[in-house]
Amino acid sequence: MLTPPGARASLRAIVADRDDDAQGSDSWRTHAGRGSPAQPAATPSPSSPPAAADATHAAPPPVAPPLPVSPPLSPPAAAQATHVVPPSPPAAADATPPSLPVAPPSGAVSEPRKPLKLQHAADLAALPIAPADLARDAAAAASFNVKAPRRYLDLIDWADERDPIRRQVIPSADELVVDPREREDPIGDAAHSPAPRLTHRYPDRVLLYPTYQCAVYCRHCFRKESLAADDAAGYAIEALEPALAYIAAHPEIREVILTGGDPLILGNERLEELRRRIEAIAHVRLLRLHTRIPVVLPERINAGLVRALKGRLMVCVVTHFNHAREITDTTVLAARTLREAGFMLLNQTVLLKGVNDDAEALRTLFRELVYALGIRPYYLHHCDSTRGLSHFRTTIDRGLDLMTALRGHISGLCLPHYVLDLPGGDGKIPLGPSYVAARSGFEWKFKTYDAKLRDYSEIVPENPPRDR
Ligand SMILES: *Cc1c(COP(=O)(O)O)cnc(C)c1O
Repeated sequence: MLTPPGARASLRAIVADRDDDAQGSDSWRTHAGRGSPAQPAATPSPSSPPAAADATHAAPPPVAPPLPVSPPLSPPAAAQATHVVPPSPPAAADATPPSLPVAPPSGAVSEPRKPLKLQHAADLAALPIAPADLARDAAAAASFNVKAPRRYLDLIDWADERDPIRRQVIPSADELVVDPREREDPIGDAAHSPAPRLTHRYPDRVLLYPTYQCAVYCRHCFRKESLAADDAAGYAIEALEPALAYIAAHPEIREVILTGGDPLILGNERLEELRRRIEAIAHVRLLRLHTRIPVVLPERINAGLVRALKGRLMVCVVTHFNHAREITDTTVLAARTLREAGFMLLNQTVLLKGVNDDAEALRTLFRELVYALGIRPYYLHHCDSTRGLSHFRTTIDRGLDLMTALRGHISGLCLPHYVLDLPGGDGKIPLGPSYVAARSGFEWKFKTYDAKLRDYSEIVPENPPRDR
């Protein structure tokens, strides 16, 4: 299936249009950094308030520093250069003449400008998907929400049916294959829910779900059934009162993790209201947000958001990048804004067959997360037992081999923990290849990262000094 040569250019031409999927009245988009491929964030937009006007509360510098990775680009070139990490030699990927992405003058007969935002299954028809594929995959679209911001869709190479971004958002008939061992509630969140919109599995931290909506619906989502079921249940502070009362009544809870849904789909006023309510609970020390927004809608990360989140609590933002192709100039700016705010930045990746189950793809992703974004890889999740994910699931053996191919070969800073979430709600199991080849008493035989065997005698005093 091939896209006509002009199609890519017309996709680019409309990416600067707004997405309008935030909940609530307080539109954060009036503050948006406008960092899109077609309109680099460094360029202030005349229709939004100047960035400096945002920074009245001694907040860190707002969104628009000079592009940190690539040298400043002229607008036409910038529209092509979304990828900080070229998939192959950069020249090959960007061979298109630089004048291409400019929108045709109005009235010119050219590509029809179709809506590219994926908001409903019906919108799939507007995407450059071969009709045969569309028909085949339509049932999957009907069975789970279809939605992605145009900026994320714009990263797709439509000529490549195996494109790693396409596979994450475009429905596939493979999703209709359900193994009887797969589950509706794959990691047992419901089994540990003492209040609505709350999961308390580990002693000192809880998950809080302020919304069940997302800016993107990932085909591999492990909560896709709770999201689908509760799609109407948006944010309302009243709906969170029982959960907040539970947190207040449990002094052992030090950390509140906002997840969902995607907490950053909420407007800044709502996030600030929620942050203030949580920080009013004296024993809570850290606010964590699990979000895909920095990947799919990075322009939402702006000075107003930083102000909404900054307060008494330590803030940790955990992003969800699955492939280095998702790292763009705009995500670099978003990460910089969050770093400069003083937030801790971590990433979780889901190990997905056909997306990132490849040592080189993972090495590139984990290196670029650290070197381009300053985000530390935290977890590599084994694909959960969610229904309809057989086509994405690798074996644990494959995951262990991939981890072996990473450790030592990339910086320890770039190395996540490979984890499996047990079905039923017993929590995460760290999975790691073992580096112990044999042992006898205090005599060990270890395997090095490059597969050499080395003996090690543990130094244990025969007459240990008494503890004083
Ligand atoms: C994953 C998870 C957490 C967070 O675990 P960390 O190891 O601290 O990242 C907390 N609660 C639940 C229910 C979880 O599934």
